[in-house]
Amino acid sequence: MLPDRSEAWREELRKKNKNKDRIALERVGMPEVDAQERIKHQDVEVNCGLSSEDAQHEAIRCMDCANPTCISGCPVGINIPKFIKEIELGEFVKAASTLKDKSALPAVCGRVCPQEKQCEAQCFYTQKLKKPAVAIGYLERFAADYARENDKNPQIPNISKNGKKIAAVGSGPASLSFAGDMIKKGYDVTVFEALHEIGGVLKYGIPEFRLPNDIVEFEIDNLRKMGVKFETNFVVGRTASFEDLKEQGYEAFFVGSGAGLPRFMGILGENLNGVFSANEYLTRVNLMEAYQSESETPVLKGKRVAIIGGGNTAMDSVRTARRLGAEKAMIVYRRSMDEIPARVEEVNHAIEEGVEFKCLHNPVSYQGDENGRIKSMKLQVMELGEADASGRRRPIPVEGKFIEEPVDLVIVSVGVSPNPLIPSCLPSIRTSEWGTVLVNEDNMQSDDVDVFAGGDIVRGGATVILAMGDGRKAAESMDDFLTK
Ligand SMILES: Cc1cc2nc3c(=O)[nH]c(=O)nc-3n(C[C@H](O)[C@H](O)[C@H](O)COP(=O)(O)OP(=O)(O)OC[C@H]3O[C@@H](n4cnc5c(N)ncnc54)[C@H](O)[C@@H]3O)c2cc1C
Ligand code: SF4
Repeated sequence: MLPDRSEAWREELRKKNKNKDRIALERVGMPEVDAQERIKHQDVEVNCGLSSEDAQHEAIRCMDCANPTCISGCPVGINIPKFIKEIELGEFVKAASTLKDKSALPAVCGRVCPQEKQCEAQCFYTQKLKKPAVAIGYLERFAADYARENDKNPQIPNISKNGKKIAAVGSGPASLSFAGDMIKKGYDVTVFEALHEIGGVLKYGIPEFRLPNDIVEFEIDNLRKMGVKFETNFVVGRTASFEDLKEQGYEAFFVGSGAGLPRFMGILGENLNGVFSANEYLTRVNLMEAYQSESETPVLKGKRVAIIGGGNTAMDSVRTARRLGAEKAMIVYRRSMDEIPARVEEVNHAIEEGVEFKCLHNPVSYQGDENGRIKSMKLQVMELGEADASGRRRPIPVEGKFIEEPVDLVIVSVGVSPNPLIPSCLPSIRTSEWGTVLVNEDNMQSDDVDVFAGGDIVRGGATVILAMGDGRKAAESMDDFLTK
């Protein structure tokens, strides 16, 4: 049991309502912008957030369990019942501080973490009562938003400097959480980013209708105020080598360069005009504002658009295509709806927005017109076999069964690989057969002792919270390494 559970205020709060009354309450819903309205805008957030009343109502549902299994489902071990009980009490700013103890970006995680597979999957309600879990994600977002909107973020600590210069490569969630921890420990921290914007996938991948850029910017600004330096348009390994940076006094590096290299399927017609990677499509729209009519970096806007894949990236691409005017926007996925890896909420939002799901289909070739522009795709019909190593049922082609589907845009979203530039600059570090950097999982240190790594460059395409957890772990161990 966590010691703070026995504090007087918690005991008093538990006595206020009987568990059977707590259990009888319905889970709150998330207010949303109407689907027909929201598909007119690329930058209108779909979820509106809970009111204080709804947040407190939801917080009452949490029973403040003696053995809070929810915490074990959180990759960074947030003290979940504590922050929820603080919300029940109306202490919203305290709840935000409790979140910040473990998560550098709670407003981001409250919006994009797959809670239904993490903490909420382990909640007593899901596990034992077979009822909808406490809405931990909604409550996380509520507390973080409340603190930000009321300008009540934790005071920036007065940090005494230790004079040691260190660098983070890339500015995604792994590096941001690493930088936040290291600046608090007194280091002189610089984050180098290849693109012109800070934030990694949070800015260039995840669209604003799910994660507004100003939420990410707010957190980056806090890091700036704490003294973290950011260098944009700086490709480590090209603009300067690790050796150059060492000569400039950097003593150790955290590599959080992500997995931004798109994969293709290697099928006929994939090089036709109108076939994109999801990475390029989303970057053009999110980072270069290709959805604005006056944008200097426009993007093709199809009327019949197919997205190949079923992950979060595929869901973001298909919903973006709808917002850019696609009349028919479809997900082509080789397994069934039950195996779709994207977050349930995003799949439901896509359905509400009129996205079609062509499950159990897999493209085998694309056909072009006389100008080399895609006009149709040939899809193999699939069925499901036994479960494979991933635990999901294996997709098997149904012999001789194909369909032809007219399309004018195809977005390929079948996975990503780590960008090979960094590993190629550091011959002493080892990589896996997938190109991910191998580290000691206990401390995120690579074979090159002054290089630590975390996030997607180590895990392949993973999640925001896991990337942040790696950044924190690396900060702890780099500090040990540099001070002992
Ligand atoms: C479209 C999309 C939707 C997603 N949706 C979700 C979701 O809903 N929930 C969730 O949890 N996860 C989601 N993910 C996954 C999640 O965003 C990633 O797991 C996470 O961002 C990884 O963080 P990171 O810090 O390792 O790298 P990234 O966020 O990829 O950041 C790496 C940064 O490093 C920079 N960089 C690379 N090489 C260099 C170099 N040599 N020098 C300088 N800079 C360099 C890149 O430009 C990039 O900005 C999604 C991913 C995508 C693509
Ligand atoms: S398991 Fe569910 S009910 Fe129990 S403390 Fe965690 S959130 Fe509350």
